[in-house]
Amino acid sequence: MAFVITDPCRGEKAGECVNICPVDCIEEGTNQYFIDPDLCIDCGACVAACPVNAIVDEHDLKPEQEEYLEAAEEFFV
Ligand code: SF4
Repeated sequence: MAFVITDPCRGEKAGECVNICPVDCIEEGTNQYFIDPDLCIDCGACVAACPVNAIVDEHDLKPEQEEYLEAAEEFFV
């Protein structure tokens, strides 16, 4: 299980999540930040750090947000 960064990050890229992640699994992409789903330990620390509420539990993703998990998986291939 992992947390996923979704659409509010696009264009915002606040980046507060990066420094708070204890396993350093958040990296900056061109349009948004991404969480490595293989390294995320599901601690949830990044959720509260995000000022635009972009970070969602994988299991709480809406159907239209599934693309963000796929984008994260592709980013870390
Ligand atoms: Fe990092 Fe924890 Fe957020 Fe996963 S849930 S990205 S381990 S801060």
